[in-house]
Amino acid sequence: MESIIHIDGLKRHYMMGDTLVAALDDVKLDVNPGDFLMIVGSSGSGKSTLMHLLGLLDVPTAGIMEIRGQSMTGSSEAKLSWMRNKHIGFVFQQFNLLNDLNVIENIALPLVYRGVPRKIRHERAKELAVKLGLGKRFRHHPKELSGGQLQRIAIARALIGNPDIILADEPTGNLDSATSREIMQILYDLNDQGHTIIMVTHDPKLADMGTRKVTLLDGHIVEDVPGKRKKPEKTVEEEGANDGQRHGVGVSDLVRIGINEGLLAHQMRTFLTMLGIIIGISSVIAMSSFSLGSKQKQADQIRALGANLVKIVDKQFENERLVETRVAGSLGLSRADLNSLRGGIPDIEKAACVREIKLNVVHSLGGLSPRVLGVQGDYLEVNNLSLAEGRFFDGKDWAGSSRTAIIGSAIAKQIRTLKADRNDTSPLLGDTLLLGGNPYVIVGILKEKAMDLDELEATSVSDPNRDLLIPLETLLTRTAHLDLRSEVDEIHLQLKNEDSLTRAGKSIRSILDVTHSGVMDYDMVIPMDLLKQKQQSQHLLDILTICISSISIVVGGIGIMNIMLASVTERIREIGIRRAIGATKMDIMRQFLMESMTISITGGLFGVVLAGIVVICVCQFIGLPVVFSLPLLCIALVASTLTGLVFGIYPAYQAANKNPVDALRSE
Ligand code: ADP
Ligand code: MG
Repeated sequence: MESIIHIDGLKRHYMMGDTLVAALDDVKLDVNPGDFLMIVGSSGSGKSTLMHLLGLLDVPTAGIMEIRGQSMTGSSEAKLSWMRNKHIGFVFQQFNLLNDLNVIENIALPLVYRGVPRKIRHERAKELAVKLGLGKRFRHHPKELSGGQLQRIAIARALIGNPDIILADEPTGNLDSATSREIMQILYDLNDQGHTIIMVTHDPKLADMGTRKVTLLDGHIVEDVPGKRKKPEKTVEEEGANDGQRHGVGVSDLVRIGINEGLLAHQMRTFLTMLGIIIGISSVIAMSSFSLGSKQKQADQIRALGANLVKIVDKQFENERLVETRVAGSLGLSRADLNSLRGGIPDIEKAACVREIKLNVVHSLGGLSPRVLGVQGDYLEVNNLSLAEGRFFDGKDWAGSSRTAIIGSAIAKQIRTLKADRNDTSPLLGDTLLLGGNPYVIVGILKEKAMDLDELEATSVSDPNRDLLIPLETLLTRTAHLDLRSEVDEIHLQLKNEDSLTRAGKSIRSILDVTHSGVMDYDMVIPMDLLKQKQQSQHLLDILTICISSISIVVGGIGIMNIMLASVTERIREIGIRRAIGATKMDIMRQFLMESMTISITGGLFGVVLAGIVVICVCQFIGLPVVFSLPLLCIALVASTLTGLVFGIYPAYQAANKNPVDALRSE
């Protein structure tokens, strides 16, 4: 009969300082299907070393090793892990169960590394648990069970993958004699069913109870004799060993391990580790939201003024400069300019011109301090103003230079306060104001306009609530002194849309170039452009925020790395067990990477939620619109994922490269 395991010239040597320890030397052994091999020998004779080699957990220093005719010498780590998972079931003296998993999860663990779906593997685990007399203790955890029960679980775990060979290293060493007998009976039953069993024992009563007894001494086989037990008739063929399943942990299992081990196992310390990520992510998102919110607020305000507004402002030269410009042929900004612009630029929708004058303004009840403006054209529309009461100037007012006035809401309030003090209840409309000593009738009152003066400084717009408007013609003919000053201070143009701003800007320049004989005695101001410039300077702040937050995220990443390294050291035994039941190095690497990524992604999500809460509360409080940038949210989550990945690689690598034998010996 062909042997199931064939070893020849097998050596395992250790260097202890300068001395060579030959734990196994020149071992030749053929294990046949159906054998129940009892390995005996004094402590330190090499029994465990042999078991680890047979179980493909350790690599021999020299020698041949074949399993079912396949040579294991020089095989890759992944191949050895797969062979181990497929052909070998381990039972240890220390049971070596995972304390965080319940009975069923422990039994089913080998199938996790075969990629068997959770439902199927749990069904099989339950069947085995019942068969091995574990009753219905499916959800119990190892801490709640007795030694005999733990060893039954371990045997069930060794059996679930339907292996040909069961390796048991002193399986009854930690059990009382009654329980030992029960466990031995299970092993005998398995042997009767055809499983090949190799068992190490210290118990002289058990030594002869196998089909063969192999005695080790100082790393050599000194005796190989038949035992009292008869070999079973049938033997397990390679059945079920290949399952048709792919080898490797499924993503859902990885995620489950990540959440259980990475997040839930040590909640407090994990949370503290996450703080760096939480703070980093939430500050990036919150700061960017504030910055976007204030930009939007400014943009809204500019839109309220008219986003497609162009102002042409006279430079208001004085003395020699003024004379020079006049001599050079420019009359300054004038109503004629407005007409030329209107005629020459089809993009202009509305237009107005304005001239300010310093005049003493008095109501019969007291003095006022408005800014007096002579206006003509679509002044209200262009400046996004509207009337609360009364009317705007009409053609007659301009043509007849009528002495009429429209007052801003702040001025109206001022007069109303004066009146209220005197218990005067007469209406404001129709009241008379004295401008420079001449009576003007109030024909209209402007609606109040919400203004944020700080924000508007950059856009050179002043508060229209404090204005007093009179017809431009009245100002020019009845109040202005004839001098060299330009006829109007500003021309306001409202274009059809924002896009035509640049195009119109060029046309305006070329028209005014002609009417002003090439003299640049005016400025062109586009409030929207000023706003854009201002927003550009905010970029710097944004970049600074991103830098500081990145530092926080990196610090968070280092925290994760630190905690993962500690975790690897703490969980050496777990790593050894997982490797022993067939996990590859890559499986372990993936598991630990998934754990660190779970921490960082959760931190990122917490950060996003925290930022959301902060932004919504703070924006309510300081009156900013709530704006979240979706791309930034995505970037933040990707950044936190990458942090877990990058800072998890080193600990995961460390975990994957732990020697499973050392990990299992470190009890
Ligand atoms: P047994 O299981 O028969 O008691 P082992 O196989 O555990 O014996 O050990 C055999 C010999 O190999 C012992 O002398 C032991 O000290 C030595 N040995 C085992 N593992 C190591 C190791 N990692 N480094 C050095 N020596 C080791
Ligand atoms: Mg031992």
